[in-house]
Amino acid sequence: MQVKDSRVLLQDQERILRRAIEHLGLGDDVYEALRHPERVIQVKIPVRMSDGRVKVFIGWRSQHNSALGPYKGGIRFHPAVTMEEVEALSMMMTWKNALADLPYGGGKGGVRVDPHALSPSELEQLSRGYIRMLYKYIGPDTDIPAPDVYTNPQIMAWMFDEYYRITGENQFAMITGKPKQLGGLEARIIATGFGTAVAAREVAKKLWGGLEGKTVAVQGYGNAGYYAAKFLHEMGAIIVAVSDSRGGIYSSKGLNPDEVKKVKNMKGSVIFYEKAEKRITNEELLELDVDILVPAAIEDVITSENMERIKARMIVEAANGPVTPEADVYLSTKKGVVIVPDILANAGGVIMSHIEWMNNRIGGYISEEEAKRRLEEKMSHNTRRVWDFWHSEMDPSKHTMRDAAYALAVKKVVEAMRLRGQL
Ligand code: GLU
Repeated sequence: MQVKDSRVLLQDQERILRRAIEHLGLGDDVYEALRHPERVIQVKIPVRMSDGRVKVFIGWRSQHNSALGPYKGGIRFHPAVTMEEVEALSMMMTWKNALADLPYGGGKGGVRVDPHALSPSELEQLSRGYIRMLYKYIGPDTDIPAPDVYTNPQIMAWMFDEYYRITGENQFAMITGKPKQLGGLEARIIATGFGTAVAAREVAKKLWGGLEGKTVAVQGYGNAGYYAAKFLHEMGAIIVAVSDSRGGIYSSKGLNPDEVKKVKNMKGSVIFYEKAEKRITNEELLELDVDILVPAAIEDVITSENMERIKARMIVEAANGPVTPEADVYLSTKKGVVIVPDILANAGGVIMSHIEWMNNRIGGYISEEEAKRRLEEKMSHNTRRVWDFWHSEMDPSKHTMRDAAYALAVKKVVEAMRLRGQL
């Protein structure tokens, strides 16, 4: 898959913020107060590699806004991470958390590394090193990291333990997405994809009366993509195509997401699933004539380059930033495509993180079923709320569903900043 230019993501976020500020009738001062993170920390992490040499990795933590509470957002380990990308993603977390009514600001972290090229011991050193460099700036009331692209519960466990070694405190609430033995919830793994499926179901009810029999294509078969496909399938939709970085598969009769996942786990890619009708490219998948398209991989896959060839009726953003602002406006207002924006559609992860954090703070217990039920309730409520605001306070032929979500989120943050005397 192509590596995007991460400055574009930051510029896109600035453009979306500007549109929201204009809709809300707010001034340039508010835009200036919100476009930059409150703090960005760069760290250098030395790792003793298996061959004895020391290799240095660069990482960041961007703390965008804390008006509503401690910064919250994941840490990604990816070879293409840049400071600008982390800044843009931290800004998105501010809006995502505000829109979901969570008591959090927005933050994001990243380390420029290919984690697949590291041994388990190298990965552990890197994870611990990240916390050693940042422990003064994070904590249960300050900034609460979580998993993101290519980070997982084991990495959260090492980070949690490193925090304990430095501070002497078993602060479970300092990080979320932990393994269940360390205060995490198993439901955190399914949360993003399940939440995306619930958001799609609520919008499908408004558009078509439900999901039953609707065709779906999912781009990306990592955590978010696989679970979105699995739950959409369980809800009655037909998954006609899925893909990963090596390519995609298509079957008009529908694919079984679990069977495809087994093949990917065994052989490394969905393309080796033999019961599919044919193989397709990622580009072809995006342009399929389906009811619902779920981009669940990376940023900037639907752009001014391919927007005219997109045929889906609904796009649900499981990834962060897969549709550029230009394509968002074109597809929504010219072609009548409903685009369920990332800050709404993929909020399931951080909503589940909040349940985990609350539970850790009170030293409580919550069952997996109860956690999943709460997530479903919040996702469907939030989706209906954005839909209703879009239709009652805006003109859906001129404004996108993203405009509605951002207007609600930015308004909430601005009000909190005013009350605190920050604006
Ligand atoms: N990394 C996820 C996101 O982009 C989850 C963040 C969290 O759980 O704090 O929303």
